[in-house]
Amino acid sequence: MHTLETLPFDNAFARLPANFYTRLSPEPLAAPYLVGVSPAAASLIGLAPDQLARPEFPEVFAGNRLMPGSEPLAAVYSGHQFGVWAGQLGDGRAHLLGEVAGPATGWEIQLKGAGQTPYSRFADGRAVLRSSIREFLCSEAMAALGIPTTRALCVVGSHAPVRRESIETAAVCTRLAPSFIRFGSFEHWAAQGKGEALRQLADYVIDRFRPECREADNPYDALLRDVARRTAELIAAWQAVGFMHGVMNTDNMSILGLTLDYGPFGFMDAFDAGHICNHSDDRGRYSYKAQPQIGHWNLYALGHALSTLVGEPAAVQAAIEESYAPAFEQRFMDLFRAKLGLAQALPGDEDFIGETFDLLQRHHPDFTLFFRQLGHLPARVDDTDRPGTDAPVRDLFIDRDAADAWLTLWRARLGAEGRPDNKRQDAMMAINPKFVLRNWIAESAIRAARAGDFSEVAAVQDCLSRPFDEQPGNAHFAAPPPDWAHDLEVSCSS
Ligand code: AMP
Ligand code: MG
Repeated sequence: MHTLETLPFDNAFARLPANFYTRLSPEPLAAPYLVGVSPAAASLIGLAPDQLARPEFPEVFAGNRLMPGSEPLAAVYSGHQFGVWAGQLGDGRAHLLGEVAGPATGWEIQLKGAGQTPYSRFADGRAVLRSSIREFLCSEAMAALGIPTTRALCVVGSHAPVRRESIETAAVCTRLAPSFIRFGSFEHWAAQGKGEALRQLADYVIDRFRPECREADNPYDALLRDVARRTAELIAAWQAVGFMHGVMNTDNMSILGLTLDYGPFGFMDAFDAGHICNHSDDRGRYSYKAQPQIGHWNLYALGHALSTLVGEPAAVQAAIEESYAPAFEQRFMDLFRAKLGLAQALPGDEDFIGETFDLLQRHHPDFTLFFRQLGHLPARVDDTDRPGTDAPVRDLFIDRDAADAWLTLWRARLGAEGRPDNKRQDAMMAINPKFVLRNWIAESAIRAARAGDFSEVAAVQDCLSRPFDEQPGNAHFAAPPPDWAHDLEVSCSS
């Protein structure tokens, strides 16, 4: 276990050539205070629990005090935003402090919101408390759901004002990831025709994270296939929990297949496949139902960037087509079968899952509650007991007959397997979360934090660290949006 002074830094990214980043220190933040901290994230880097309560802790993670061994830098990247080439972007408000050896993998420590960098363009280099709490809570919640993601160690706040649509206050969210390299990091060098830098970056990723790609005839082709498969599996996992990223620009797509850059994300409440969680996305490019195709589009942007390394356009196309859709379909089907309590793959499952989506789309029940409550129902039921027994699911529907008709199909499909109810129900409880970070829950914690009460951030974080447990004491966090939250809007402003 380490202290803030003894974290074992070994900064591999900082050993890349100087054109990959700019070295610079974070800008100090006035009188920082701790808003939230994740003990689980701290343990990833072997930081001793007593360190989290030290008065130096908020100073360090505001960027006011550098830990020995850190070599702060901001990385350069480019990307496609909303389908349009945006040119150079980069860490406009993120400082990579360096990489710490963890028990399993190395973890880069990054301060988001710690001041301007050469890549800030016209922006202030800061992040507001609202978006920092959202990123903190969601990173840790996604990890607890078992979904690949960057992690969040803590949020520190300050009374320093930050101008957005209104005046808000500044915060820094400390993120952890094996690497923050994005699709856009590769697009950056390809767009400039810098083949050598492109190859150096690809070699860095392969040697550090995907050494198995070295064994392939063309390691870069293998890397593209690996990214395509992981991205497909990631997006299938998002679909299965009703997560919408909101800004799937190529600069927000992790080369390691992690959920990256939490902004105007959302979790589905009442199901609508066309739901757009980002208020700034007026055309719905990043709606729930669009996410799988956007992942595919983004892989073509990456594939195009890697084309000088992979080979002919046909080779790039083959790498993507042979990896992305097959991996997505497989994982999507596996996840939704499991969510429905089905242990075997049988002919007709695609139709049944399609009918399930039709039901959800026509009647808009709460997505999370629908699957969670389904896990409470028995496989067999007498017609006379049905309304009472099936109430947990039926009551999510105004049209009870529609629910009954679908439940009859579901029971017929369960009957084809004959798995004991207790086994099936346990399996369903382990895949269908009771708790996800609904917008209203994040908003409620943010409002309390703005008023100086951080206990709700901690309560939400604690609840979402065990999303599959019943937690009767936290039943209120499983509820659909209350009336006050019906017109919450989340935009790109952060
Ligand atoms: P995002 O849409 O948050 O992924 O940001 C797109 C680009 O804008 C990234 O390069 C960010 O680093 C940069 N950016 C966003 N907000 C700010 C800010 N307040 N200050 C500086 N750069 C920012
Ligand atoms: Mg971003």
